[in-house]
Amino acid sequence: MTLPYLDSTLPVPERVADLLGRMTLPEKVGQMLQLNAQDGVQRLVQDLHVGSILHTSPENVLEAAALTEKTRLRIPLLVAEDCIHGHSFWEGATIFPTQLGMAATWNPGLVEQVARTTAVEVAATGIHWTFSPVLCITRDLRWGRVSETFGEDPFLIGEMASAMVRGYQGDGLDDPTAILACAKHFAGYSETQGGRDASEADISRRKLRSWFLPPFERVAREGCRTFMLGYQSTDGVPITVNQWLLNDVLRGEWGYTGTLVTDWDNVGRMVWEQNLFPDYVQASAAALRSGNDMVMTTPQFFEGAQEAVARGLVTEADVDAAVSRILTLKFELGLFENPRLPDSARQAEVIGIAEHAALNLEVARRAVVLLSNDGTLPLAGGLTADAGGRAVGDGTPRTVAVVGPNADDPQTQLGDWAGASGQVDWMVGGMPRHMTQTVLDGFRDHVPSDWTVTHARGADILTVGPDPEGQFFPDGQPRPEVVIPAEPDAAMIAEAVAAAQAADYVVAVVGDRIELIGECRSTATLELIGGQVALLDALAETGTPMIVVLVSSKPLVLPPSAMGAAAIVYAANPGMRGGRAVAELALGLIEPSGRLPISFARHVGQQPTYYNQVRGQHGARYADLTQSPAFAFGEGLAYTTVEYEDLRVLTPEVGLADTVRAQVTVRNTGSRPAVETVQVYLSDTVTSVTWADKELKAYRQVEVPAGESRTVDLELPVADCTLVDADGRRLVEPGAFELLVGPCSRDEALLRAGFTVTAD
Ligand code: BGC
Repeated sequence: MTLPYLDSTLPVPERVADLLGRMTLPEKVGQMLQLNAQDGVQRLVQDLHVGSILHTSPENVLEAAALTEKTRLRIPLLVAEDCIHGHSFWEGATIFPTQLGMAATWNPGLVEQVARTTAVEVAATGIHWTFSPVLCITRDLRWGRVSETFGEDPFLIGEMASAMVRGYQGDGLDDPTAILACAKHFAGYSETQGGRDASEADISRRKLRSWFLPPFERVAREGCRTFMLGYQSTDGVPITVNQWLLNDVLRGEWGYTGTLVTDWDNVGRMVWEQNLFPDYVQASAAALRSGNDMVMTTPQFFEGAQEAVARGLVTEADVDAAVSRILTLKFELGLFENPRLPDSARQAEVIGIAEHAALNLEVARRAVVLLSNDGTLPLAGGLTADAGGRAVGDGTPRTVAVVGPNADDPQTQLGDWAGASGQVDWMVGGMPRHMTQTVLDGFRDHVPSDWTVTHARGADILTVGPDPEGQFFPDGQPRPEVVIPAEPDAAMIAEAVAAAQAADYVVAVVGDRIELIGECRSTATLELIGGQVALLDALAETGTPMIVVLVSSKPLVLPPSAMGAAAIVYAANPGMRGGRAVAELALGLIEPSGRLPISFARHVGQQPTYYNQVRGQHGARYADLTQSPAFAFGEGLAYTTVEYEDLRVLTPEVGLADTVRAQVTVRNTGSRPAVETVQVYLSDTVTSVTWADKELKAYRQVEVPAGESRTVDLELPVADCTLVDADGRRLVEPGAFELLVGPCSRDEALLRAGFTVTAD
């Protein structure tokens, strides 16, 4: 007779109840554990009965599955990985721009396709769960994890995150190409102090509700199946034991029924780092009582939780609740019938295929942002491509010097959480080199055949050395090495200067490197490190028109020589096809359409620079510097000029249940087509609490051919015109509002029109 839990015709809750009834306490506690497969899988499966593994090499996936088959109840494993912009650590997989780059497309449809494609590649390799998307809001550019975010705006983050969750989870978990999405890091982790990673998040409940929670609430309500809790503590309480956020808000108010996973050793951190509990028994009990389901990389939880039950600190029913949620996921994924093991035939069909590369190119093209341009771009007045994608010349051969430390750096182009970025031990060599087109490759492959591309590195960025604090953290994790900025090298600069002098254009590709990105790698400064500023200064002196290309994980402060360059292009870790996209943009083979999802500072001391700050300070500048950012949220140029005219609110008076309707005319006054992102901000004229002067509420992307205009219909439900009052309630306060419509968040670029909300 088939045991009920193995009978796929029975409803999931019945199967869960049956299986739970057969499990011993150690098996149940083990089911709650997610451990690092890089430490070897045998002990994890046989002795600790783990429910999940992460960072699993292709070999370990198979070994772990075979071991699981031999266990008493044969409960399949959930295999998890950080596939956050592609199947990050699978050789040959498609690596897309980082989330920040994706956000610069302002195109959720494309981002959904990225996630769907990632899921298709991931699902073929025996992985069921990705720790993506990141819904943290960038607040301080010094933070090392800016590239993992969708930028600084809660609304844009919500749009992008929702699209990614849809893409990963596909048509439902029974779809064999669906993988579990994970909204992280819940919530407030990015509210750092001084940009320091995982510092206490000094944030009130009202501030959480105002800016940090809305994107999470959206994906919770839309069915994101898992949430990861961040590293932060708030008001003295680590998120792992934050009953208010986990139980009252997430599971209570929002009705979330999904699974929670801690971040890396969050339970252990409460013992050895935050000194909240004297031992793992009490820490495990607290984590259980607060409703955590899966405990990431705290092996001590195995003994700790069992002992907590034995001492009566928690009940077995607390354990059962968590295990039920984990088993529900496994049943809904159908893992008992089909453990979704790696499938090499399927891998050959889907991983890194041309169709995925084409999508990647499209995303990269839309992600590159043109920040300034004196008319030098597009080069040679703009060219068209032949069938092979190479530009066709205009009869005049030209030389382009492509210089700088990031001109030919595949890893920086991919960014964090990919290839050799350091999180896994089986990809030290990174992705196969031929898969990534660097900016130098892009120019070589796409300039007209009678043009010449020369190259000189020009400067180094950094070297690394041991952390003076020691090689390991107290939990045994290795400390990252510390960055030692490179000295400017006169010979390297001279070589690049000579190349620039001999060229018609110099493309200077600068930025940061993987050693300056990620966890524990926040930066004190935002300047271009090493010999880069000296290189740019020397190149500017040559008089050759200079195009600065910033390939970096986050907005950096550009020196005057770069700000005064002929053009500036920003490519936020643009992925495998990023170099081609940059070259195509420079040559005019594509139209620039990316828009900043994040503001650029002029100086690190301007932090924070996000646009949606709360009203009310004395003055609007520092004594020694403007507060205006170098480039503002929403900015990005095209090769044409676009004018906004005639903003009309069609519904000047609306009730609480109505929708505000407006129209604006967008006129393309130049000679090339525009892909215009029409941005709609809201300003609430009088508010019962201090509130952001304006907030993005909607946007539309419209194509406007040269010389033509389009009337764009805009809609904004009044229910979205909210603020969070002094008691923490999100509501609409009737009264006067203004719609601000235009090409970016800068006041001077926005048309304004008022409307009134009446109480019904
Ligand atoms: C990071 C998470 C990541 C996890 C597993 C943690 O250190 O904060 O974002 O998903 O590691 O790799």
